Amino acid sequence: MFALKSIQLAIQPLIRCPLNKIVIKTMATKATPKKSVMNIKSSSPPSATSSSVYNPSKSDYDAVDDAIWRSGERVPYLAFATTLKTIEETSGRLKMIEILSNYFRSVIALSADDLIKSVYLCLNKVCPDYEGLEMGIGESLIIKAIAAATGRKVDQIKAEIEKKGDMGIVAELSRTNQKTLFAPPKLSVANVFDKFKQITQMSGNSTQAKKVEMIQSMLVACRECEARYLVRSLTGKLRIGLAEQSLLQALTQAVVLHNNVKMKRSSDKFKAEVAKHSLILKTAYCECPNYDRIIPVILEHGIEALPTHCQLTPGIPLKPMLAHPSKGVDEVLRRFDKSKFTCEYKYDGERAQIHYVGNGSVLIFSRNQENNTSKYPDIIKRMPNCITDEVKDFIIDCEAVAWDQQQKQILPFQVLSTRKRKNAEEGDIKIQVCLYVFDLLYLNGESLVAEPLSKRRDLLRAHFKSVEGEFTFAHSSDVNTLDEIQEFLEESIKGKCEGLMVKTLDVDASYEIAKRSKKWLKLKKDYLEGVGDTLDLVVIGGYRGKGKRTGVYGGYLLACYDDGTEEFQSICKIGTGFKDEDLENLANSLNEHVIDKPKSYYNYDESLRPDVWFDAVQVWEVKCADLSLSPVHKAAIGFVNDDKGISLRFPRYLRLRDDKKPDMATTASQVSEMYKNQEQIKAGNDDDDDEDDY
Ligand code: AMP
Repeated sequence: MFALKSIQLAIQPLIRCPLNKIVIKTMATKATPKKSVMNIKSSSPPSATSSSVYNPSKSDYDAVDDAIWRSGERVPYLAFATTLKTIEETSGRLKMIEILSNYFRSVIALSADDLIKSVYLCLNKVCPDYEGLEMGIGESLIIKAIAAATGRKVDQIKAEIEKKGDMGIVAELSRTNQKTLFAPPKLSVANVFDKFKQITQMSGNSTQAKKVEMIQSMLVACRECEARYLVRSLTGKLRIGLAEQSLLQALTQAVVLHNNVKMKRSSDKFKAEVAKHSLILKTAYCECPNYDRIIPVILEHGIEALPTHCQLTPGIPLKPMLAHPSKGVDEVLRRFDKSKFTCEYKYDGERAQIHYVGNGSVLIFSRNQENNTSKYPDIIKRMPNCITDEVKDFIIDCEAVAWDQQQKQILPFQVLSTRKRKNAEEGDIKIQVCLYVFDLLYLNGESLVAEPLSKRRDLLRAHFKSVEGEFTFAHSSDVNTLDEIQEFLEESIKGKCEGLMVKTLDVDASYEIAKRSKKWLKLKKDYLEGVGDTLDLVVIGGYRGKGKRTGVYGGYLLACYDDGTEEFQSICKIGTGFKDEDLENLANSLNEHVIDKPKSYYNYDESLRPDVWFDAVQVWEVKCADLSLSPVHKAAIGFVNDDKGISLRFPRYLRLRDDKKPDMATTASQVSEMYKNQEQIKAGNDDDDDEDDY
């Protein structure tokens, strides 16, 4: 008894010392545990009491005393599986994070070398995403392995899976039927992980028997709930209900508590420390999504050292910056208020993060950091033509868009999706792509993510060359008024894009990867579909067309009808939605109704005076994105506001309503109702809550 206590006392200071020191010492220390380590023969059925031995949900969890293994030992897979089980039985996210962090605390304190493998197992991964090895063994192989491990029949197992809907549970229950003579060695996190990795690395039919054998050997060794999580992991469907961001949070908590053993979870100090460190960790992880690099730095130097040790590196894909959806031009203007911003076309293709590594090799990663290099041999080949001589290495952010070489125009995303996904041969490529580059994240040895977009964009334009149909800078315009944005949005849609990306240029304009960001807003064309109801409006004036529309009208002035005052009140100018033949036909028919001055019952503002006035004869059906108060238009004036009318935003012509007479047009009171309904909806929906983008 004395001996046990004194060894424990001896290891305590080692365990509580900073991470960099314990890594080496705890692994070298052989100490006897205070209480017996769980040792259940594999032949024994799961017992209710045995799993309660490891309880990572204890509120006063002690990283050493509450662990079920000794310092320097490999982490038992049972501790890991029990942690997952406990998480699964918990409903609140915060408590789940706490449970996982307690498990990590013990791993750090006792067997820090197993931390990387524990993290990968939690994520159901065996390597960083970009290395492309994925868990996901076919069901039939796993069923074979369960049958071989338990002596049960394949059909019986299949029927039970059908009934229970969870292969993991079936594997766990199957274990109880088994009787083995000798207990196989217990599973550890390290050997399970290593076997998982080997299994995912094996390819080809000839390896199937070997895979079954390996799975079988692990299943035979399973205790308690281990088989459930082992099988779920193998199928690639672990799904413990904690996303990667929560795992990073749990890891941060574990490190903070490891370094401050006395700190209480409920204290403000703990919360502040976790907030500070989790941002550092998340940022590092976004720039370098590779736990094999990050975790050794945390263990050796602490989270604070991550920015200096784990930086953006060509060859390692970073998490891309994501945009926040916007509810319209109003929101864009409100959010960006006084800061300068730019609007770029939002191309509809596939995101391509292109890395040019110093030695001349080019790598292309998808939005989810998958390696897409072999999909795009054509892009790889053209890259040297798109860079200037001073470029040594870089990371750029682009959209690869299907391109019609004959017509010299963008093709829809559906066309791009028919391209071969892997190992494409340049000669076989039928779908050409043009790259639209919109950001520069790394250049000549320097990370640019902290620089404002204006600087990144200047550097991009200075160091890269546009090549028609191959490599082009995203079309942009540094507009700032509502009308300009509106016009540019319409232009983008005519240019076969999805809408606009609106981005801050100078203030608060870094390439934001770790935090949810509203520095990029997307303004999609669906926004133009906004108001479900259409309006029937009367044409009262025309503006002569220029360029392509010379000889016809380029735009028209529309009005609603106020049945109280019997006047036609201007509601919008319209120039979108017309086919060429519409422009021709409408101009011909309206030219028969030209009048030399506006009718006394036309209510309009002088600033909108058209080139030509028409008699109120034609009604058009029009759709719009939304309705807004207008200082110039007169529709429904006095209904909502005494001095302002209502106007339509992004009006689009749908069709001529020759079944309607002008006094059957949408009335002023209907317009005001539509406006009010929409405001109510907005008030209800317009929550500014951040969405979790990751
Ligand atoms: P969404 O997929 O709707 O969330 O929109 C964001 C995606 O738009 C990005 O991930 C890019 O793939 C794509 N995109 C197209 N054009 C641009 C652009 N100019 N700037 C940023 N992203 C763009």
